[in-house]
Amino acid sequence: MVNNTETKKLPKFAVFNGKVVPFSDAKISIMAPGLTFAAAVFEGLRAYWNPEEKQLYVFKLAEHLVRLQFSMRVIELEDPPTSEEFRKQVLMGLRANKCREDTYIRIQAHVDDWGEMIATGPVGSYVVCRSRERVHAFKTGKHFAVSSWRRNADDASPPRIKATGNYLNSRLVGLEARRNGVGGGIILNRDGTVSEGPGGCIFIVRGKQLITPPVTAGILESITRQTVLDLARDMGLDAVERDVGRTELYQASEGFYCGTGQEIVPVLSVDGKLLGTGEPGPLTRQLQDAYDRAVRGQDDTYQNCLTPVYDIKK
Ligand code: PMP
Repeated sequence: MVNNTETKKLPKFAVFNGKVVPFSDAKISIMAPGLTFAAAVFEGLRAYWNPEEKQLYVFKLAEHLVRLQFSMRVIELEDPPTSEEFRKQVLMGLRANKCREDTYIRIQAHVDDWGEMIATGPVGSYVVCRSRERVHAFKTGKHFAVSSWRRNADDASPPRIKATGNYLNSRLVGLEARRNGVGGGIILNRDGTVSEGPGGCIFIVRGKQLITPPVTAGILESITRQTVLDLARDMGLDAVERDVGRTELYQASEGFYCGTGQEIVPVLSVDGKLLGTGEPGPLTRQLQDAYDRAVRGQDDTYQNCLTPVYDIKK
């Protein structure tokens, strides 16, 4: 067995169907359509600990909840929790576990119980909060290869919704990358242009321009991608969304892979061809610093993206 590389540090409590319960009590039926037919959508968020303020901040909670409502609407979940309910549950989960370190939050909504493929209810949900450090590759970067798998199409299994079913495609890409001894895969869409990686979006630098595939390239409309575009434009960079050809990856002087979990991971090479010197690039480093300041509440422009978890002491 090749085990997963994530530390299995179980949280004490989960928020399960709206209530705080011991983690091990949060269980769904083995016949739940959320499991048997992937009738499930989810979100992954990060909360960052600010030691000076002794405060935990959830980054872009509202944006994640909007995307979750969209995903639930597309798969036609019946009477699911509202954004306000989920917002409260995220805070409940973080407080119940007394989270005081960098934390990853998964919210899921699924069809529970027993039912056919197109069952739309009963809807179950959970919020799980667990400690999660920054990935090591944030510092070191990773080598990537273009995957032999193609991205699932918008008219088949739309990547724009964050559905568990879409992660079969991502899993195949990840397994292939591991088998081939590379750090990560880059997925082309049916048109042969770059879509994204299995769990994050791709940016490259050519000349002075920062380039990322458009939202029509078969990507999840990533919240980190939007943050990076905003940060880059704040820094006066020319940041564009346009189709990226496979061999443009080889021409790039630098590049990175980004998402909530990965944050910003430098791409060192693609298909064995070094990007620039094969070290994390200067623009990538600048954007990593800017991202870190934004998510940790050290950049006033991004204060409104942060939701404090604990009472603010006056
Ligand atoms: N694409 C895929 C396939 C993902 O799983 C993720 C991670 N959620 C992303 C992109 C990045 O999205 P976000 O920045 O909203 O986390």
